[in-house]
Amino acid sequence: MTLLVNEIFYSIQGESLSAGIPCVFVRLTGCNLRCSYCDTPYAYDEGTKMAITEILKEVAAFRCPVVEITGGEPLLQNNTPLLIQSLLEDGYEVLLETNGSIDIGLVDDRCIKIVDIKCPTSGESHKNNLYNLNRLNAVDQIKFVIGDREDFRYAQKIVKTIQSEFPRSHILFSPVFGKMQPEKLARWILDENMNVRLHLALQKIIWPDQPRGV
Ligand code: SF4
Repeated sequence: MTLLVNEIFYSIQGESLSAGIPCVFVRLTGCNLRCSYCDTPYAYDEGTKMAITEILKEVAAFRCPVVEITGGEPLLQNNTPLLIQSLLEDGYEVLLETNGSIDIGLVDDRCIKIVDIKCPTSGESHKNNLYNLNRLNAVDQIKFVIGDREDFRYAQKIVKTIQSEFPRSHILFSPVFGKMQPEKLARWILDENMNVRLHLALQKIIWPDQPRGV
């Protein structure tokens, strides 16, 4: 059982509700989208074939209880759910960052899924698989990366369709880094009385000039 792996590294979790804690990142190769603001184009094609057992060994070397599977788009590879399951069975807390275009139904329920919903300025909002909104459980999170007022309005509309029992604090509104002023997004959230979480990508604040995982 193999996967194409772009990089494995140990860093501070920058996004999601786990922001701030140390985490091992397994970045898988390949993405079916081309977002206008993508900061990981090197993950589109570059990668090394690794057996799941090799990945587990490399992850274990960091002695960290939290692992995030990211990309690219991790769910493009058929063996990703198996990797997630193996990590869970080894006792890790596992997070999956997915771009929201692929069915999350095959992912183990114990895995925390951070599902992007692409907004219009990404250029990829027509690829959102909105059925995923019905497959979320209470530990999962939804992320909107917002670049302008139209994106904000788009996100607002989608939020209204999310089941009322889904925790509103797990709905993340994040400004497009370097394009959208965080204070502007904060103002819109407050003015519109939106019960969502303003979310800043911590790794971009700590390491603004670092093009790859650190
Ligand atoms: S989904 Fe993520 S990796 Fe893929 S193009 Fe968009 S930002 Fe880049």
